[in-house]
Amino acid sequence: MQTLWAERFAQRTQRMKSSAVRELLKLTELPDIISFAGGLPAPEVFPTARFAEAYQAVMDKVGAKALQYSTTEGYSPLRDLIAQHSTRYGIRIEPDNVLITNGSQQALDLIGKVFLNPGDHILVERPTYLGALQAWNAYQAEYITADTDGDGYVVESVKTQMRSGPKFIYALPNFQNPSGVTMSLERRHALIDVADHYGVPILEDDPYGQLRYEDEHLPSLVTLDSQFRSTDGAQYSGNVIYLSTFSKTLAPGIRLGWIIAPVEVIQRLVQAKQGADLHSGTLNQMLAYEVASGGFLDQHVKHIRAVYRERRDTMLAALDAHFPEGVTWTRPKGGLFLWLTFPPHMDATEVLKAAVAEKVAFVPGTSFHADGGGRNTARLNFSNATPEHIDEGVKRLARCLKQLLATP
Ligand code: PMP
Repeated sequence: MQTLWAERFAQRTQRMKSSAVRELLKLTELPDIISFAGGLPAPEVFPTARFAEAYQAVMDKVGAKALQYSTTEGYSPLRDLIAQHSTRYGIRIEPDNVLITNGSQQALDLIGKVFLNPGDHILVERPTYLGALQAWNAYQAEYITADTDGDGYVVESVKTQMRSGPKFIYALPNFQNPSGVTMSLERRHALIDVADHYGVPILEDDPYGQLRYEDEHLPSLVTLDSQFRSTDGAQYSGNVIYLSTFSKTLAPGIRLGWIIAPVEVIQRLVQAKQGADLHSGTLNQMLAYEVASGGFLDQHVKHIRAVYRERRDTMLAALDAHFPEGVTWTRPKGGLFLWLTFPPHMDATEVLKAAVAEKVAFVPGTSFHADGGGRNTARLNFSNATPEHIDEGVKRLARCLKQLLATP
């Protein structure tokens, strides 16, 4: 029965639909399914003992303060730690450039709240992160898409789309969710140039930057932008807003991420966050600080990299060994995902139906296309399943694909 509430939903909720694929993906939570669908880190790498010690230490050191309300900007030592850490990667910022959020997902939402009027255009990659589209749909954003290839945004395509006057460019330069692709250094420079030339700012979303399994670290867009501007002061005041998170390096359950932005932007975001939740959990922030400090984070990230590198290699080897001709995939240098392209006539949702019957799952690529394309594409996650399950899951998927390809 419909309640009185149902006829009172705001217009913006019309865009907040749950998709048919989401219903199908509920099946993937059944216990005997090997799921490459989620974006979950491996629970085996969560530093549970370190969290337990940290909890005791926080209680011993600050006691009731950890259970009290605190400032919207975030716990100062944690902001300092993030600022110091970022400086090490070449981003010259001060703690005032940092806002702690409930994961990067809240950062995306706050950015929508602060910057988007209904109908505003955002330039996104084709494909792009589904969660960003969900966040901004609620603010009635419209999307324009630019082409991507194995080096990220195709800059010529970005230039062409500047005609539509996007409010900002959304970029995922490292091991992109969903494609696993990394933007080359040349393209990073070119994107900064184009953004500067057309006067359009960039939102850089970087949850996976530290999870690199081969080659050298590439400078983030915010770093390149600050170098390009070569401002003397330590405070960042450029064209890029940068997002990152502890979800992939510590644990997603603590829901802690951060925004790096010019101070005038941070101030607005603080007002938006006040209205949303007053502040991120004091206890969680203190815990994260305690866990991350003293060099533990670096050491732990090394361990995570080793575990995920093995899983990525297992998945790539299984794909090479078992997948039929006509299907191609990306070879990510880090992150949690790789991207499949089936022959053009194949519909990934149909493949998913067959796959679920074989007890293996993935996410069809259309969900990541703001323009509704990508019917024959799919995202595979390699962080959550064990190497044995990865190998078995890929074999099952290969069987489905061979059968579907053999059916006229
Ligand atoms: N951005 C991207 C690109 C992501 O892949 C994710 C996590 N799936 C998020 C943001 C949100 O992460 P969290 O809220 O856990 O920090």
